[in-house]
Amino acid sequence: MRAVTFHGVGDFRVTEEPKPELVGPADAIVRITLGAICGSDLHIYHGRVPLDEGAVLGHELVGVVEGVGPDVRTVQPGDRVVASFFAACGTCYQCRRGWWAQCEERSIFGHGTYFGGLGGAQAEYCVVPRADLNLAPIPDSVTDEQAIFAGDILATGLFAAERGGIRVGDTVAVIGVGPVGLMAVMCAQLFGPARVFAVDTVGSRLGLAADLGATPVDAHAVNPQVEIQRHTGGFGADAVLECVGQVAAIQTAIDCVRGGGTVSSVGVPSELTGDFPYFDVWNRDLTFRSGCTNVHAYLRPLLDLIAAGRLHPERIISHRMPLDEAVEAYRMFDRREATKIVLRP
Ligand SMILES: [Zn+2]
Ligand SMILES: [Zn+2]
Repeated sequence: MRAVTFHGVGDFRVTEEPKPELVGPADAIVRITLGAICGSDLHIYHGRVPLDEGAVLGHELVGVVEGVGPDVRTVQPGDRVVASFFAACGTCYQCRRGWWAQCEERSIFGHGTYFGGLGGAQAEYCVVPRADLNLAPIPDSVTDEQAIFAGDILATGLFAAERGGIRVGDTVAVIGVGPVGLMAVMCAQLFGPARVFAVDTVGSRLGLAADLGATPVDAHAVNPQVEIQRHTGGFGADAVLECVGQVAAIQTAIDCVRGGGTVSSVGVPSELTGDFPYFDVWNRDLTFRSGCTNVHAYLRPLLDLIAAGRLHPERIISHRMPLDEAVEAYRMFDRREATKIVLRP
């Protein structure tokens, strides 16, 4: 099968790889019909994540089940499915508490042996362990281009919004409206805020956020803290969703939230240095939450919301490319020439 594989920092290639085989009795093999490039793939691209030579990349996938092990109950060959970007075991202490993201055996697709040695999603086939838990059937009325988001960044957006503690009539600010931030804009609106500000410096992203109902704030043109305070009687936003992953963005989020408000941070940290503004959080009675996302909790509700026409995550897709053009796709995505690229094997 063809797959996108890792050969060094900035050196991804489309190569011919052996088709993966079913191993465990609870596994399924999926023929991938759509993959995607995620912002977190760029962390690998830039060498911030250790990966072995030749590892298959990609962790966002939808496809059709081709085969299942004897213990699989909820999906069968021919079913359209979306996978969580990470696999959980379903039986450990954390899984039984509903914290699948904290599973003791959590492994991530397309992240090589260091993250559990699963295959990748930028390929023609992928084996999904514990298929009953880690795959969700896609309703007929939901397209591949919609469903693919439920397994990763849309779940991240909902996680961010839910943990922002948004109440009806609140003011929300989203810091960084790349793909995850745009999902956070959409998901924040499910909680009934009066308004959602979208803070970024990239015009195309701000335009898309505005199309999705947010008020754009260009951080190159205005100070976001001043701008948001100006619209909130000088107080700031009730909830701020941070979707960048840099200390400066955390600081902006804390600057933009009102005293007593909540910062919910989901940006994948791209730097591990810098001071966390502990004093501000204490002094202003802030709630600070952070994390990746607990995908399994959101898969079913998100697919239902999409089926009901209440979420349109596919609106952020800017480029549809064949898997064979993945090298070029990565180059474009890295240079921010594309908002979101999906790859068709
Ligand atoms: Zn991702
Ligand atoms: Zn577990």
